Amino acid sequence: MLNALESAIMEKGIVLEDHILKVDMFLNHQIDIPLIEQMGRDFYDYFKKYEINKVLTVEASGIAIACFTARCFGVPVVFAKKGSHKNVGDNVYSAEVYSYTKGKTVQINVSKEYLNSDDKVLFVDDFLANGAAANGVIEIIRQANAQLMGVGIAIEKGFQTGGKMLLSYGIDLYSLAIIDRMEKGRIYLKRRELC
Ligand code: 5GP
Repeated sequence: MLNALESAIMEKGIVLEDHILKVDMFLNHQIDIPLIEQMGRDFYDYFKKYEINKVLTVEASGIAIACFTARCFGVPVVFAKKGSHKNVGDNVYSAEVYSYTKGKTVQINVSKEYLNSDDKVLFVDDFLANGAAANGVIEIIRQANAQLMGVGIAIEKGFQTGGKMLLSYGIDLYSLAIIDRMEKGRIYLKRRELC
């Protein structure tokens, strides 16, 4: 049986060229609140084994998912800001991230005020492709001497390298939907019993 996110992907997801999945109609532009709420609960059910005190994500698409997840844990969300923002100031941890969809490198920043060595962090994001965003966030967590407890991904593209990379680091990775492949406009999900 498909979970709610997998059903939404199969019913509404659109395959763009270059193996990009468009999910603007429920996740990346218009947001299906009951669906995102369910995703937050799913992440909570999996990661509640850890004492998480902060949910970290990257602006903008990860924020909604992170908020519903954090609501279940009763903890705040911190999102990494992209670019060099004057209102963040110099007091930041930062990392360079190559954006797979935009084809350029951006800087992501987290204020030192909102991440420190007491933090046990769950990183949540909308997509995992080659893991560049995850690597950037891991670097920021390292700079803060915080602890990464796990990574929760809505849609992992299993045909790209990010998932294997995070697992090779020994990270507890939990993806709600894993796409095995996209061919001729069709989406093939990885069967969960094979995951
Ligand atoms: P990665 O850093 O793992 O290579 O890519 C993850 C980031 O790129 C995500 O935060 C997401 O914004 C974007 N991304 C990667 N693949 C896709 C995709 O197929 N569709 C959409 N909408 N975004 C993607």
